[in-house]
Formats: sequence, structure tokens, C-alpha cells
Amino acid sequence: MKFDDQNIRSVILLLLALLWLPGHAAPAQETNLVLVTLDGVRWQEIFGGVDLNLIEDERYSRGPDSLKKAYWDELRSVRRKRLFPFLWSVIAAEGALVGDRERGSDMEVSNPWWFSYPGYNEILTGRADPAIDSNDKNWNPNVTFLEILNNREEFKNRVLVFSSWEVFPYIINTRRSRIPVDTGIGRSSSQSVAATGERIGWLDKVAAQAPRLWPAVRLDFLTHGYAMQALNSQHPRVIFIAYGETDDFAHDESYDRYIDAAHRTDQMLSELWSWLQSDSFYRDRTNLVITTDHGRGASADGWPHHAGAAATARLKIKQAADGVVGSNQIWLAAIGPQICSTGLIKGEWKQSQIAATALATLQLDPDKLMPEADKAMQLLLRAPPAEVELVD
Ligand SMILES: [Zn+2]
Repeated sequence: MKFDDQNIRSVILLLLALLWLPGHAAPAQETNLVLVTLDGVRWQEIFGGVDLNLIEDERYSRGPDSLKKAYWDELRSVRRKRLFPFLWSVIAAEGALVGDRERGSDMEVSNPWWFSYPGYNEILTGRADPAIDSNDKNWNPNVTFLEILNNREEFKNRVLVFSSWEVFPYIINTRRSRIPVDTGIGRSSSQSVAATGERIGWLDKVAAQAPRLWPAVRLDFLTHGYAMQALNSQHPRVIFIAYGETDDFAHDESYDRYIDAAHRTDQMLSELWSWLQSDSFYRDRTNLVITTDHGRGASADGWPHHAGAAATARLKIKQAADGVVGSNQIWLAAIGPQICSTGLIKGEWKQSQIAATALATLQLDPDKLMPEADKAMQLLLRAPPAEVELVD
């Protein structure tokens, strides 16, 4: 058969007809999720940069001059960019932010406790559970969205968790979920799924040599280092990285160290995002969602602490009958192909909406996968093109 113009035209017409067949839905391109938490970082610093009163308060800061030189500026917009350059140069321009109470964007926890385990439970299960009332190493009876994913064929063994805090294996309930959670505990003896990659030996060595500042929290550069190695060597579809230093330096009433830790975390996020965009598996199909488990006190006396009224009543702290005021207030930042690039998103939002939002970035239907969870933050999400079919 002679392959003339007529044939070519017929073939093209046939192809076009197939593409435009009514009711034909293109499968969505697979997307990945990187969820990051910065323990107990206040929205006040995220949106307002360093607090001059706290820098100059002798109780909290040893080096006001160097702190001012590094992070202070009269202008709020300049100040916050000095503290969080990645957040304010990349995410503010190409992604979305929630939680600036000076600009009509409010986000808060729904649980009554305003501390870590209840907060992480709320983030990961999409629901406040008042019965989660302690930071003790109790196996979580609730199922996280990570566990739901790990039970699905396309995510099986492709969900990893790296945390600075030792309680995460219990929050994720590794016994039931079978999700590998690396906290540094038992690294040398275990065959952690995550422990591969060329720099793991070096990381194990410096982890053993690094100072241990707190009994249950390792330094964030270790959590970050192991997570980066796992991304590089295993390409998980979903990774949750939980940094922890900020909360502990704040509890130590050290504002300068809290600030420096927050700044270092921003640098780690910058490295993480650049690397994701340099890797062909993650580039242009990975969403990064960053948030926190709780806020901190809004006042100069309250900022090192966080607790809800239920918690202060139980501890019989009469002078804080309403809890540590402001420590229920949180924030969220996100960037990626499924996230709107609108900058600040106004309105009132809840921590319990994060799980459904995370599932939606993976182009899954949260109403079907987690019917008990709070609704996704639709304003944050880019509407999927009409021809893409959501997977349930
Ligand atoms: Zn804390």
C-alpha cells in the first residue's frame, strides 16, 4: 500500500477522534508527597520574623546584637525573609501560606491539649481525639493517612518517616502500620529500611559523636541527613520528615537558639526542595506541605510554653486557667503541582484538615479513604483538569 497524504490524514483523524472520545478520562499522572513538620514554631515568627522584645529580653537571649544583625529589620516583610528566606522567596511566590492572623488568615488546632502527640495525631488522622492526652509512648489506636496509603498496592513500602522525636513510632503505630519510622533509636542494631545510601556510614558516625541535648530528641541535621539519603536511594512516594529542635530550644527558654534552629530548618527545606526539583522521579510531580503540631504562648512570658486549658487544669496551674494563650494557633505552607500559587490564603482553617488535603495532593479522594476526617482545604488546592479522574 502506498502511504500517501490521504492515508496520513485518515490516521491523524482517527487519533484525534480517540483522544476526544466522549467520557474518556485520562489517568492522573502519579504525584508524590513530602510532609514536613517544624515542632512548635509560632506563626508570629513565620509571618513576622524575629520578635524584638524577646531578642532584648535577658531571660531568653544571650547575644541580642548578633541576633539583631542576622535577622532584624524594621519592615515585617523584610524581617521574615531574613529568618525564613526559602519560605518567603520560593513558597510565597510559587505556593501558598496559611496562618497570618494580622492578615485575616487563621489556622488552629481542634484538639483541647495544644501539645505534640495530640497535634501530630490530628495532622495525620484528620481528626482531633481528646483521648490522646499525653506525650507518652502509647501505641496510637487511630489510623493515620500514612497507614491507609501503606495498605494500598501503589504505595506499599513506599511510605517512609524520619523524625527527631522518639515518640513517632508510637504515633504512626509501627507495630500495626509496618511503616519504617527512623528516629535514630537502635540504628546500629536494626536493619531500618531507610538505612541505605552512600552517606549512611558517615551519618551513623557523626550521630554517635554529636552532643545529645535532650533525652528524647536528636539533632535535626541527622534527621534531615537520613531523610535525604532515603529520598535519593529509595524514592518513596510519600515521606514525612518531623524536625524537632525548635520546640526544645524554646522550652529551654533560649530564644536565640530557637530562632537559629528555625533558620536552619528553612535552609534544610530549601535544600530539600532544590533536590526534589533536580531529581527526575520527583521533579514537577511532588507536593511539599509544611506545618506545625502546635503554637506557643503569644506573650513574652508565655512564648516558651504551650498547653490548652485542659492541660493546665490537669496540672493545676491556676495562673493559666485558659491555657497558654495563643498556643493553639498554627500555620501551614505548601508548594507543588497540586497547590495554588496564590501566596497568603485568607479564612479560618483547622489542623484536622491537613490529612484530607495531603491525600488530595496525591489525587486520591479523601472522602472515600478517610470519611471520618475533616474536609480538605480546597482553596489551597489547584482544581484538577476536567479530564483527570480522581482515584478512590
Ligand atoms: Zn513542646
